[in-house]
Amino acid sequence: MSKVVVFGSFVVDLMARSPHLPVPGETVKGSVFKMGPGGKGFNQCVAAHKAGADVVMITKLGKDSFADVALGTMDELGMTKESLFYSDDVETGIALILVDENTSQNEIIIVPGACNTITPEEVAKIENVIKESEYVLLQLEVNQDANELVADMANRYGCKVIVNTAPYAKISDEFLSKAYMVTPNEVEAEELTGVHVDSLESAHEAAEYFYKKGVQKVIITLGSRGVFVSSDGREEIVPAFKVEAVDTTGAGDAFNGGLLAALSEGKDIWEAVRFANGLAALSVQKMGTTPSMPKLEEVEKFLKTH
Ligand code: AMP
Repeated sequence: MSKVVVFGSFVVDLMARSPHLPVPGETVKGSVFKMGPGGKGFNQCVAAHKAGADVVMITKLGKDSFADVALGTMDELGMTKESLFYSDDVETGIALILVDENTSQNEIIIVPGACNTITPEEVAKIENVIKESEYVLLQLEVNQDANELVADMANRYGCKVIVNTAPYAKISDEFLSKAYMVTPNEVEAEELTGVHVDSLESAHEAAEYFYKKGVQKVIITLGSRGVFVSSDGREEIVPAFKVEAVDTTGAGDAFNGGLLAALSEGKDIWEAVRFANGLAALSVQKMGTTPSMPKLEEVEKFLKTH
């Protein structure tokens, strides 16, 4: 099994449910409050770690009690904390999530905080981790200049860059040219390529856009419809597993973490996608993001019976 890295965000999810969402100026008495670890980078790293990967999380926290949410989770799961950075003056990132308990509609404010302030000096400090790793998984939730430096460094050392283009943000052609693989969802694929992905043909067209930029493998996640995979001239939509979904938040993170774990084990892209599909299908059957990531044994058992 090779070593892998997730470079990305950590935020504390602060979720409150109430009978309706407040309008400007209104205070609403809520019914439930929950606090827990979140951020696309962190969710993906937890998914990969629980799936058995030898994975290092690189992110930046504040020097505050919210940082303890990350540290506590990492201790509990036995994750390595050696590549974390701390900001002296910026708080740990947070996401304020308001949920209407009747309609399930939500309103979210994300303040990425410390993980949006990763400096070139800090990126320089992770050189050895990148050098030793076969893959690094990036998302678009931290400051993009740091992502670009990591992609450069990874290219120098032959560490393959996987870019999960979430949440959508404008990215340069130069950045894309450094990616070995991209994993947008269908909305991000459309925003990036201008192609509305709703068939094998349109997915092929979107993939061509990425190939022209220098990307080598394209995966587009399609929610409950599954995943479009394009690799070495073979293109297919791999269907999602049919399960009773209760909470699809973090499904993309589950998929990306699972994909990273499977690739690090030397699985080929088709086997890796099957594994990631299974892992994501298990995660959507539970509430929450990091707590819903299944263990390796659960994924293996699920795949044996499906
Ligand atoms: P998305 O980010 O919504 O495209 O979802 C990422 C991946 O999660 C999909 O490609 C599927 O593998 C899985 N997934 C999402 N929603 C469902 C669902 N309702 N049932 C089964 N798998 C799902």
